[in-house]
Amino acid sequence: MKNKKYQTTLLQCFEWYLPEDASFWKQIAKEANKLSDMGITGVWLPPAYKGSGGIHDVGYGVYDMYDLGEFLQKDTIPTKYGTKEEYLAAIAAFHKAGIQVLADIVLNHRMGADETEEVMACQDSPDMRNRQISGSYPITAWTRFTFPGRNGTYSDFKWNWTHFHGVDWDEKEKRSGVFLFQGKEWSQNVDTERGNYDYLMGADLDMNHPEVVEELNRWGKWYLETTGVDGFRLDAVKHINFPFYTHWLTKLREDTGLELPSIAEYWNSDLSALCNYLDRTGHVTSLFDVPLHFNLYQASNSNGTRDMRQIFDGTLTDSRPDYAVTFVDNHDTQPGQALQSYVEAWFKPLAYAIILLRRQGTPCVFYGDLYGIPHDNLPPVKGLETLIKVRKLLAYGPQTDYLDHPDVIGWTREGDEDNHPNSGLAVLLSDGPGGSKFMCAGVSHAGETFVDCMGNCEERIVLDEAGCAEFKVNGGSLSVWISEKALPL
Ligand code: CA
Repeated sequence: MKNKKYQTTLLQCFEWYLPEDASFWKQIAKEANKLSDMGITGVWLPPAYKGSGGIHDVGYGVYDMYDLGEFLQKDTIPTKYGTKEEYLAAIAAFHKAGIQVLADIVLNHRMGADETEEVMACQDSPDMRNRQISGSYPITAWTRFTFPGRNGTYSDFKWNWTHFHGVDWDEKEKRSGVFLFQGKEWSQNVDTERGNYDYLMGADLDMNHPEVVEELNRWGKWYLETTGVDGFRLDAVKHINFPFYTHWLTKLREDTGLELPSIAEYWNSDLSALCNYLDRTGHVTSLFDVPLHFNLYQASNSNGTRDMRQIFDGTLTDSRPDYAVTFVDNHDTQPGQALQSYVEAWFKPLAYAIILLRRQGTPCVFYGDLYGIPHDNLPPVKGLETLIKVRKLLAYGPQTDYLDHPDVIGWTREGDEDNHPNSGLAVLLSDGPGGSKFMCAGVSHAGETFVDCMGNCEERIVLDEAGCAEFKVNGGSLSVWISEKALPL
């Protein structure tokens, strides 16, 4: 890998409102070299298989996981992002640029079945899924997936109601609800929100059915062999029987001999729920640091009253840094989406400094922040490209924290002169008034002149014989002080 000497920086390589014109794989392939030069070492691509919404489906309404934009299904051959050939070409382009590719894996549910079946089911309370609110009666469920447009290519597996726990729609009475099929029970090893959060949407896969497990194992192998992706982003794991991914990932790793790095989305701001998942799955995957996202979101919405000393309180980055994938925003938190909690624009550079320039956690930059979101007239985050470059070139060596003031916090990195010339930095940020702080960047920087590469402070600061100085930051702002010798980046 071309970028081996640089630390990992991931890019979530899509936002919700990309054009629905099958152009994205072609477009993003052209960006590969630029992203690599900037410091991106891995990309998380959106779900690449045909969704029930056809060309309009972002990818989470999974219909056929063997159709990567190859078969005429749901009124389209390509997916929202393009054809199978274009997807494979984009992966090849990233690999050529030394960038790893993580595929988005959505196994919790299926949508857009080809046929209905009559099934006995009872209704559970939508708010408390352990509470049954009706007796058993026949419903008409969309659970028969035969994929006529693919006609048995790659797999002749056909799904029927026995492969699912339940659905949220009775076609017979045109009624929505949470319907649990007779003889089935929700998995007990899932998140406990709403009593039991096994059911999310669509037809919910029964991960205890041996045929389901076998088919998903077969698909995983097929997907790796077909696409050559390097690892995974696992969707909605709090809704999936916890032991499932331990078995699925471990088996794939054993069968292929590949490392298959994985990041799971367990959407819960409660640290104990995340730690519980890591413990119970044997740390088989990393997790997104959802609590940190909410800390950043709240800080951005608190008019400077957030105590910045506590920005890492209750986060995975603080308690299990080796398994924490940090992020500022994603396709679900962006404006208009289900989990909207968008970090305010003024705080974005501060938030990115917090995830990109520290030792703990593996950062994942959001496409919408790097490229902007035209749908909502949101421009790219100012200075983000610079921060990614600073991480790549300069954010190395021992870290000293100065998280000691409710408004103004900072930290330094001493650098790693042998491997990364002129590296080292001093970060200072404030969610309130501006200020200054005496910080030490290491004796190797004695007498050097540091400048703010964000361009927010004009001063040139000369470090003393111990490599220390009084660094400055403006109000509601970020300054990243680096050695003048490191310029231009
Ligand atoms: Ca489920």
